[in-house]
Amino acid sequence: MLGAGIVGTSIALHLAKRGVAVALLDRRGPGEGTSYGNAGIIEGNTLFPAAFPADVATLLRIALKRSPQANYHLSHLPRVAAWLAAFRAASQPARLVETAQLMRPLFARAVVEHEALVAEAAAERYLHRNGWLKVYRSEASFAAQAAELELAARLGITNVTLDRDAAHALEPALAGVFRRAVHWTGAVSVSNPLALTRAYAARFAALRGLLIDGDARTLHRADPYWRVETASGPLDAADVVVALGPWSGDVLAPLGIKLPLAVKRGYHRHFRPRGNAGLSRPVLDADNGYCLAPMEQGIRITTGVEFAARDAAPTPVQLGRLMPAARELFALGEPVEAQPWLGARPCFPDSRPVISRAPRQRGLWLACGHAHWGLTLGPVTGRLIAEMMTGATPFCDPMPYSAERFTH
Ligand SMILES: Cc1cc2nc3c(=O)[nH]c(=O)nc-3n(C[C@H](O)[C@H](O)[C@H](O)COP(=O)(O)OP(=O)(O)OC[C@H]3O[C@@H](n4cnc5c(N)ncnc54)[C@H](O)[C@@H]3O)c2cc1C
Repeated sequence: MLGAGIVGTSIALHLAKRGVAVALLDRRGPGEGTSYGNAGIIEGNTLFPAAFPADVATLLRIALKRSPQANYHLSHLPRVAAWLAAFRAASQPARLVETAQLMRPLFARAVVEHEALVAEAAAERYLHRNGWLKVYRSEASFAAQAAELELAARLGITNVTLDRDAAHALEPALAGVFRRAVHWTGAVSVSNPLALTRAYAARFAALRGLLIDGDARTLHRADPYWRVETASGPLDAADVVVALGPWSGDVLAPLGIKLPLAVKRGYHRHFRPRGNAGLSRPVLDADNGYCLAPMEQGIRITTGVEFAARDAAPTPVQLGRLMPAARELFALGEPVEAQPWLGARPCFPDSRPVISRAPRQRGLWLACGHAHWGLTLGPVTGRLIAEMMTGATPFCDPMPYSAERFTH
């Protein structure tokens, strides 16, 4: 297993549970990459992926760098132009419904698969089963969700539309600056994503899984095996899984595997609540595109997306743009850290991950591109790929997540 994020760690654990001898390699500790910094929402309820904006006003605000939802580095746009065009095409209403249907088997099992691993890993304390809340500051922004709510009703995905008072009853510390809220009751959330991945890794180690320090870019063929160089010497395996999140291309490109994996960068920062204000579940301010997530470290504010090179210097301007709205909604005190955290969501333009064999490479498997949903989908990805690798019947049709959709 190359990569000990939530995806790689969950796969390693699923394989170890099936009696496979597994080494889980990372150059950092488990969960210290992208999986460290998310909003902690396990959104089994998710239907539509984040979409390219359809209306001119939103696009203009983004273009003028006034939107808290999105930011970009101008110099990066030519490099992602083709990806953005494909993302835009996949954001047409009919394609969004298609994506929702293709992703449903994974989301439908997302919560139960976490619950199973959480129970085994004795990590119950991090899991909160009280859903999450989206608040809408205007009737217009609430109305924009109509199609999603309609589809949710058709699929029997539970949610409750609330007026301001009912939302206050759930989260009394929210200021009354919004008009409506939707409580997605079936979602669960995590109060420390790093600790959760570490707990899964500890469970993997308890099942005799090996945690190895090394650089995945040393991967090469040493027939009949794959080989990586590690601090304790070369390590050979008949099968290797690339689960390096936004770094997956670093290993795949030298092998001649070109996948349209781009990054949507995102920031977070923790704040101490003022007085005795508190939140008991994550809250998304739909009009401003950020999330307030109660974490062990404080209230974590996570931003929307930034189109910039993965390794470019941080430019956390979105935090500056959204802070007035966030302070209006909730009594935020001082920041906990000196600097915001920066991560990079690994994204394919059709918002589906790749969970499959690699094209034309015997024994090479891929599990990457989980975009906005990697925390949610880690364990269910672990189940699916472990079933495929061990020759068991996969719990769902894996074709929608095949790399071949990009290589044909
Ligand atoms: C601001 C923000 C908010 C988010 N909120 C949510 C949310 O609420 N819910 C949700 O489901 N998802 C959310 N996400 C998305 C989620 O965090 C990611 O999809 C997920 O963490 C990806 O996991 P991963 O295991 O694929 O990648 P990673 O966690 O990045 O793991 C990849 C690993 O590979 C290792 N690695 C890289 N290169 C090498 C190398 N050369 N050698 C060895 N090791 C290497 C890294 O150290 C890392 O540990 C959010 C993301 C962001 C940025």
